[in-house]
Amino acid sequence: MIIFIAAAWIAHNNDLGGYSRIYTDVNDYPIWWLPASILLIMLIYDTYFYWLHRAMHHKAFFRWTHLVHHKSTNPTPLATYSFNVIEAIMEAAMGFLIFILMPVHLLALLFTVTLTFAFNVYAHLGYEVMPRWFRRSFLFEILVTSVHHNLHHHKFKGNYGLYFRFWDRIMHTEHPDYVKTYDRIQEKRFGASKVNEMKRAHFPLLLLMIPLVGTSFQENSALEGVWRDDVGGGIVSIYKDGDYYQGKLIGAIDPKKDAKVKRMNFHVLENFKMENEKEFCCGKLAHPNFSFKVDGKLRLKDDSTLVINGQVGFFMQTRVWKKIGSNE
Ligand SMILES: [Zn+2]
Ligand SMILES: [Zn+2]
Repeated sequence: MIIFIAAAWIAHNNDLGGYSRIYTDVNDYPIWWLPASILLIMLIYDTYFYWLHRAMHHKAFFRWTHLVHHKSTNPTPLATYSFNVIEAIMEAAMGFLIFILMPVHLLALLFTVTLTFAFNVYAHLGYEVMPRWFRRSFLFEILVTSVHHNLHHHKFKGNYGLYFRFWDRIMHTEHPDYVKTYDRIQEKRFGASKVNEMKRAHFPLLLLMIPLVGTSFQENSALEGVWRDDVGGGIVSIYKDGDYYQGKLIGAIDPKKDAKVKRMNFHVLENFKMENEKEFCCGKLAHPNFSFKVDGKLRLKDDSTLVINGQVGFFMQTRVWKKIGSNE
């Protein structure tokens, strides 16, 4: 935020060494230029952001430019300004270029900055709040939605656009399940209930009640479910608890032979956090027969194979679990 404020201050007070074309008298240019310039800024900025964003996802740059922003796999509005200083500088730099390239009225500038902020909060909301009619309007075809950007955070690949879908569609980087996912989320909200008709009529009010009426669309991870450990003999249920995944013993393959599984409901996995679709980190592994816990990592090899790594000092132990069912 400090970097963006500094950039605004420089552009406003320093006049960019005389090159800035920001103007304050509306009559300096035809009045139609005001809305036209806003649209143009959005198109230019969207194009710049799309290519910058793709570059930042390149493995040569990702770690030191964009990784911080992707620590949120199911973002909240707080992720809007959660990014690396370098990313902030690169995003603010485009502003300077626009002010040099074209005349921008101060009001048009304030409007686009406010709009970008509001749109970013919406994109990182974690809830879809678009009304039902939006899906059938042409706006759906061109605008990014909260589901669209959430998929980017969840899958890491695809959906790089900021406001518009143009570039993702042209470059074939839009997530193939985007529209399907959007429809599924909205179906949850608008299903059949009459209450939803009311929500539509009170759209502005709805924005204030987002956490109550929006539908969180984080997909369940394949990690959730019941797993079998053939070596240890345990059967473990992994479930999500807030942001963390926990695993507790719920049975044994052969209860008579296996003394280890005496302590039912014992937590063998504690506080694992999703790093990306396949990897979960920073949790603890525990064993019902021992009192100590070790640092662990989980990796989904596929939807029904889980590789568990436990680290004890320099030693690494690996176990492979097989999925045998869901939690219900
Ligand atoms: Zn990204
Ligand atoms: Zn984001």
